[in-house]
Parts: sequence; C-alpha cells; structure tokens
Amino acid sequence: MIIMVSVAFLNPLSVEAEQIVRDMGDLSKIYEQNPDLIHAVDTSKSQTISDNQSIPKNYYELAIKRMEWYIKKKNDKNYNYKDYAFLFNPEISKFDVVAFFILAQAIGIKFNPNSRESKLFVDLQGSIIEERLEELSISERRNICGKILDELIQHDNIKWTFLEEILSSKKLSLHELILDNGDIILDKEDFLERFRDKITHRNPERMYELLIGDPVKELIMIKMIMQKTEDYIKKVNEMSQKVEPHPYLLEVGEKISKILSDNLRYYTTYQGEMKGFRLNPEAFPPCIKLTLNGVQSGNRNDAIVLLLTSFLSYSRLYPSIFRDNVSVKVSDVDPDLKITQNEILPLIYEAAQRCNPPLFDDDPQEKLNITAKLGFGVHEQPELKNEGESKWYTPMSCDKIKIHLPALCKPDKTCKKIGNPLSYYKTKSWQLSQQRKNKEQKSYNNKNPNNNKSKTYKSGDRAENSDPTKSGDDDSIGSDSH
Ligand code: SF4
Repeated sequence: MIIMVSVAFLNPLSVEAEQIVRDMGDLSKIYEQNPDLIHAVDTSKSQTISDNQSIPKNYYELAIKRMEWYIKKKNDKNYNYKDYAFLFNPEISKFDVVAFFILAQAIGIKFNPNSRESKLFVDLQGSIIEERLEELSISERRNICGKILDELIQHDNIKWTFLEEILSSKKLSLHELILDNGDIILDKEDFLERFRDKITHRNPERMYELLIGDPVKELIMIKMIMQKTEDYIKKVNEMSQKVEPHPYLLEVGEKISKILSDNLRYYTTYQGEMKGFRLNPEAFPPCIKLTLNGVQSGNRNDAIVLLLTSFLSYSRLYPSIFRDNVSVKVSDVDPDLKITQNEILPLIYEAAQRCNPPLFDDDPQEKLNITAKLGFGVHEQPELKNEGESKWYTPMSCDKIKIHLPALCKPDKTCKKIGNPLSYYKTKSWQLSQQRKNKEQKSYNNKNPNNNKSKTYKSGDRAENSDPTKSGDDDSIGSDSH
C-alpha cells in the first residue's frame, strides 16, 4: 500500500497541520487513550517495542517520546532506532502534529525562548525532518520538499534578505547558497537561464545538480521550519505573559524539565548530586589571583566581567565543563541560586570594588553585564525567570588572555600544561590533593611502622577528585565562547 506523505509530516506549521490541530479541538484529549495512534505505532515498519508500556497511547505520551528520541539519539550509546521507528511512519502525521504543538506550547510557556530547552526543541525538529526525509523515496522527497517550499516562499525570486533571520542566527550560511544579483537560485530553469551561457566545458544541468539540486532545497526547507518553530515558541512565550496557560501544558513543561535534568545528570561523567565543588583558592592560576586582588583601570572590565565571572562560576559549580562538553545552566547545579548569590557573586563584587578605581563606582552597568555572563540576561541580579536570556560564558582561553589582558598573565610551571585557567584549576587541584594524600600517608606510616596497610581516603566533593591528566580534561584550548 502506498501512503501519501502529508506536508504536515515534515512541516507541523503548515496550513494542513493547522487544520489537523483545529480538528482535534481542545487540549482535554491529550491524556485520552487513542486506538488509532496505538495502531499506527504498532504497525510501523521496523518497529521493535517489545514492552507494551513503551508504546505511546495518547498525545501526551507521544510528545514525550519525541523528546526522549532526540535525547537518546544524541547521548545514549545504546540508542536503537527501531525503538522509535514509529516516529518515521508517515501514518503518524496527524498525531505527530498535535504532539509537536503540545511540546512547543509547553516549552514556550515554561522556558525562555533562548533557553537550552527551546534550542533543543528547535534542533529536535530539524533532526526529525532530516531522518523522515531519509525514509522517503527520491521522488517523494522531491515532491514534498517542492510543496513545502512553495508554501514557505510563495514567490518566484527570493532575495537573500528573505532569509536574513536564518542567516543571522547561523542556521544557514551564505556560502551554502548560490546567489545572482542578490537572488537565491533554487529553481533549475532559473539557474539554466541565468548561467547556461556562462558555463563552459561543463554540462549546465550537471552543474545545477552539483551546486544546488535537492540538497540545498532540503536544507533551506529544514532551516526555515526550524526558524518558524523558534518564532512560534517566542510567540507562545509572549502570550503566556498575558493569558493564563492551560494546566496540562504546565504539566508537560514540568515533565520536560525533569527529563532534561535527569538526562543531563545521567549523561555527564560526573555522578551523584550536582551540588558544585568547594572552591580551593590555593589552586587558582596566577591570572585569577591577580584579578582577585583588584585590577587597574584599562583591564578592569574584561578582567572582572569576562574572566573572573566565568572562572569563579564554573570552578564552583561545574569545573569539568570542558571535559563533559554538555550544555548546562547555572540552575542545573545550583537550583535555587543560593551558591551563586551567597558565594560566587560576593567574590566577584569584592574583586570589582578592589579595582582602581572601584569598578561599580564609575561603571555600575557592569553589574548587569556580570548577571548576563552567568546566563540570566541583562538584569541587576540573577533570577530563575530570566535564565536563558543569555549564555553562561565559559572562561576565555590563555591565548586570548595573553592578547586582551596581557598584564594578568604571569605563567608559572603548571601553566605550561594547560590552555585555559579552568584547566589550570583542575590540574592544580588534583596535584595539591595528591601532595596532601602523600603527606598524610607518610605521617600515618611513621606513626604505624608495623602496619603496611594504606590509609584509605573518602572522596569529598572537591574538584580535585579526578586526575585531569588522565581524564582528558585539559582540552580547553579554543573551547571558550568568546
Ligand atoms: S597561562 Fe593561562 S592560566 Fe596561566 S597565568 Fe596565563 S592566562 Fe592564567
């Protein structure tokens, strides 16, 4: 049986998809068992859900499965495509569209449009379209992509400025496109008309396939849908400030938040409660020690706002960020922001006031910039409701410090092994802890000359408990975000 692939299968923001959502009615059905959905899942090609419990039975469960699929695909070595094969079955379209809207609205209500959760959802949408395209035949792919682009673009010639938002958000780059007088060339006839005479020694049709063809069209289609998804989340977020959200959507938002924080814990190499690490000032690198003592005018702003803020926050909350290479927010580690407010910010503010002249006396705006560098947007104080408005910056690399803050870089022996002050901190913390353990072992042996057993040490919660030289931790060169 040939199944007609619906536009809504790839573009949940299409006119067809909107109609599906209208037909569904209100949100009261999202927890109701849906036999048609169960049948579509059950009969999906390659599907291997052996456990009945894992089959999504209603819209809510399908929405959660969508998130779960993406997280597992990205992070779980044991991810099995066949467990989620139903997501790539065109027969699931009408249920999938509703699941998309449930997720998009729950995320728009619960999280900031710039948050990790919103970005993850937009990426998920891009990824699901790519995989769905892979499942289609060439002619189906071409056909559906053409229909979607017709609906998205709606005119013959598109100027590159039409894609300005996508280009400036770096979802797409100009070098992936063929331009002529500012027009983006997608259509074969248009390409041949404009370039046939200019192409010599090559077949123009072949050149079109090489330079544009289906891949560029599909790329534009995917990026445009991702952009529309992002815009939709923004719209929902704005609306939710004015209209009381549906309680079911709040529940879904809570569930998403839980899934993401559970998975962040599970997939990082750090095990146990994420509660941060006591600071060990002895292990601070020379540049940080100098900054803490106060900096002269000229270097003050960058030293405090860029270097110290990122260094202290990550050293205290997540020193393994470069090794783990995960997306993390301050509140993942410090859920009520107590550590940030009571420990980290006072250290930064004190160092700011030790500067000459005191930083906030003539530049009070910098307090807002410090909040922004912690990921809470431009506000006086970090508050959970603003988290995600900006990015939590990682410390800049030693190379950049040498260029922008040369007066602060006074390298010592440990500096030779690292490329970032945070890696210095991890390495030095470990070295100091080894020295301390050796010393204690020696003194224990001296007191117990006839006892050959080694003293055992309990692991504490400092950043020093893993050997960074063995864990590949010192990988931070170029990994800062400046
Ligand atoms: S080499 Fe790096 S860690 Fe060492 S003082 Fe210079 S900037 Fe700081």
